[in-house]
Amino acid sequence: MNAILAPQAAVADNASLQQRRAASVARAIGSAHTMFASRAENALIWDVEGRRYIDFCAGIAVCNTGHVHPRLKAALHAQIDQYTHTCFQVTAYESYIELAERLCAAAPGSQPKKAFFMSTGAEAVENAVKVARYATGRSAVISFEGGFHGRTLLGMTLTAKVAPYKAGFGPLVPDVYHVPFPSPVHGTSVADSLDALAHLFKFQVDAKRVAAIIVEPVQGEGGYIPAPEGLLAALRAVCDEHGILLIADEIQTGIGRTGKLFAVEHSGVVPDLITLAKGLGGGTPISGVVGRADIIDAVPPGGLGSTYAGSPLATTAALTVLDIIEDEGLLARATAIGERMRSRFRALAKRHRSIADVRGLGAMTGVELSIDGDLSRPATELAAALKTEAAKRGLIVLTCGNSNNVIRMMPALTIEDAVLDEGLDIIEQSLAAIQAG
Ligand code: PMP
Repeated sequence: MNAILAPQAAVADNASLQQRRAASVARAIGSAHTMFASRAENALIWDVEGRRYIDFCAGIAVCNTGHVHPRLKAALHAQIDQYTHTCFQVTAYESYIELAERLCAAAPGSQPKKAFFMSTGAEAVENAVKVARYATGRSAVISFEGGFHGRTLLGMTLTAKVAPYKAGFGPLVPDVYHVPFPSPVHGTSVADSLDALAHLFKFQVDAKRVAAIIVEPVQGEGGYIPAPEGLLAALRAVCDEHGILLIADEIQTGIGRTGKLFAVEHSGVVPDLITLAKGLGGGTPISGVVGRADIIDAVPPGGLGSTYAGSPLATTAALTVLDIIEDEGLLARATAIGERMRSRFRALAKRHRSIADVRGLGAMTGVELSIDGDLSRPATELAAALKTEAAKRGLIVLTCGNSNNVIRMMPALTIEDAVLDEGLDIIEQSLAAIQAG
């Protein structure tokens, strides 16, 4: 065998891979866990040493139809046999068009819609803002504190958490403003956020210069905080009053995760533009923007695009993901999974004072850990310890939140009840072990 193609190590184990990683991979690229994946199936991952893990993370809400779904695997294999890349901007193909058609038909709102695709979530956000700026002829953009919109220059500017996302990377993009995201359990009401917006318009930026407000229907990285009742409708009204476009960042919430194809459907609010990524490709890199045709088509030909954007592998995968969600009733399943998880955590909270809040929407569940149940005292170390202890016992979870004290869980929507319960048992056992130790 050609020496360049020969595997570097005959037997890979977690410790030796960790060493090789430390020597050659940038330390800024973090990993929540120390094991290395070798294979995965539905809601299970096996590491290189053969250990089995229940995956409550699905690659950060990406593999909503589970790891290596047989239909997705077959569709990808078939596409590889046809072609893997032609570049849509050079030689277009049908799966891209069909995906746009299906998302336009499914997205909320009765106005004519259009869609286009990119590769990453951050790119979808960048492009939604480009479209909003072009269509309105305005430059300012507003996002929410605790919001996460990516790590590109504009993405990190819109993202409102300084360390580790912004510190040291400036200067940031001008004309971006932030207001607090409402979270009544943390003492910020919808009225407080709207007051902050009014204050911003009075003292910082003329509302008539604002191109867009971008908001996550459930704040993801910020702590799995669903937009409280009334927020999205109020933002819609503010946008309509001032000619501002409303962008729903559904990169983490979209494609069935919350029990609807788009999380904004829970509110009945129709955004002007929706950004999608993660769950759309079921594990292949694809993102997109879907929204009002008049707004998206304001940008002239050539104004948007990217070499790999809407790759045929990813558009084929996305179409298959949409089929699986429909055929397997995964929207209802997302709702059932979320209810099962949160009812278990609410019961657990009665015995563990550190569980200060249990929240979520559909199969997005956040459990906030605080010292003595006091939400003003984040139990950051406990959350880290729980993540580590659970992994030792065979469960993959992540943390999030402005103080990294929220355990977030977003398993595949195809997870079996028995596996879900086994994972929840591990959390309960891990909490008990930490308390005892
Ligand atoms: N927006 C939201 C709401 C996200 O959750 C993320 C990723 N966590 C992004 C944007 C950025 O997506 P990507 O990492 O694919 O660039």
